[in-house]
Amino acid sequence: MAQSNADVPRRDPQASLRRLPSVDQVLRGEAAHLAVQRFGRPAVTDAVRSALALAREEVQAGAGLATTQELAWRATQMLEAAERPSLRPLFNLTGTVLHTNLGRAVLAQAAIEAATLAMRDAVALEFDLASGKRGERDDHLRALVCELTGAEDATVVNNNAAAVLLVLNSLAAGKEAIVSRGELIEIGGAFRMPDIMTRAGTKLVEVGTTNRTHPRDYADAIGEDTGLLLKVHTSNYRIEGFTREVTAAELAGIARQKGVPLVNDLGSGTLADLAAFGLAHEPTVREAVNEGADIVTFSGDKLLGGPQAGFVVGRRELIGRINCNPMKRALRVDKIRLAALEATLKLYRDPQRLAERLPTLRLLSRPQEEIAAQAARLAPKLAAFAGPAFDAVVADCRSQIGSGALPLATIASAGVAVSPRDGSGSALAELSARLRALPMPVIGRIERGTLILDLRCLEDEDRFSANLSGADA
Ligand SMILES: *Cc1c(COP(=O)(O)O)cnc(C)c1O
Repeated sequence: MAQSNADVPRRDPQASLRRLPSVDQVLRGEAAHLAVQRFGRPAVTDAVRSALALAREEVQAGAGLATTQELAWRATQMLEAAERPSLRPLFNLTGTVLHTNLGRAVLAQAAIEAATLAMRDAVALEFDLASGKRGERDDHLRALVCELTGAEDATVVNNNAAAVLLVLNSLAAGKEAIVSRGELIEIGGAFRMPDIMTRAGTKLVEVGTTNRTHPRDYADAIGEDTGLLLKVHTSNYRIEGFTREVTAAELAGIARQKGVPLVNDLGSGTLADLAAFGLAHEPTVREAVNEGADIVTFSGDKLLGGPQAGFVVGRRELIGRINCNPMKRALRVDKIRLAALEATLKLYRDPQRLAERLPTLRLLSRPQEEIAAQAARLAPKLAAFAGPAFDAVVADCRSQIGSGALPLATIASAGVAVSPRDGSGSALAELSARLRALPMPVIGRIERGTLILDLRCLEDEDRFSANLSGADA
């Protein structure tokens, strides 16, 4: 980069420093002029100052002088780097389709378009176009959610954690909520069921033991102070062996008999029967409603495949109480997400074309042979990228749904396994870093000294290849 200037004796850095261009000189050049048009004068001035500061350090370390043009070019590079969005799009080759750290569900085209329209114009968010009077935010989704779940009424909030918090606070503040000890889940981060219950103002009453809970445990615990029975789908783990879980249907019977509401937190909850798409069965929201839960909660960006949201569906009277809670206002969703949710939900009306249109389902149901063929095409390109110190071979692997859905049910997949010939862990870490540094970062997973790039979620193969060869941005 910095070329040595033959006129200046290398041994006198002080003399060289004085010959570096000034900020003004750099700004007067053609390259800086173009940068000012793109980024504005104040930003370019700052960047040129930074570039000069670096150049000064280099000179003191014995390097040659940077020219005016080089300094402008470096300043432009800094500005371009700062311009890149912090939320960088990337290739999720981790094999976890709904990766919470990578943003969970990728939205359907229809949802993207609906969200864009809602962003661009004013919309009848809380306005009834027929009567010209004030409308309700929930009106946009209520009928659709009820149609797809069989519930009487529905509302939607920021996410499922918010849905659970709101339901507990609305129906059982100052009262007891009864939960099986085997269902006191933690879902990463700070979402621990006992903590949420405390914050919701409810008193947790644990029943049963870690591995076994019986119907009579619930029945015996119900008293005057009981606000509700809570069933939590143990979405991110399974208790196996000598176990007894009280089913939602059994619980519904107990709840009805005792006159307390049953809340079922499904977590992922799906609107379609995944078995129809070759996947393991995950309880559907309709099933949970049919089993007799008074309230069912579930996420918008897990198996449902939409934007982040939390759904609360169930009995009209209870939803009415939930909607009266002032917390609802603090947890509501905006017009952009409502638009994306509506468009996503509408796709479920046509189950035949659902897997084609909804990325989450499309990715989850991609046949292994198709992925393996893609891996065979890409392995040589990845081998070239990795260099001679690595082997890159097609490998069978297993994908996960992610976000806690069906933790034990993995899906046969394929990818490229890249391993350092000398088994060096630092070489592997370096390769992972090079993949992350690509214009569109590539994220895989490391398993026993090998980098696995599971191709289940790779749809745009051309873009991937161009990106590898540095041709994409
Ligand atoms: C994921 C999950 C939640 C939290 O849902 P978010 O939409 O991530 O807030 C709550 N309960 C269960 C059972 C879950 O699986």
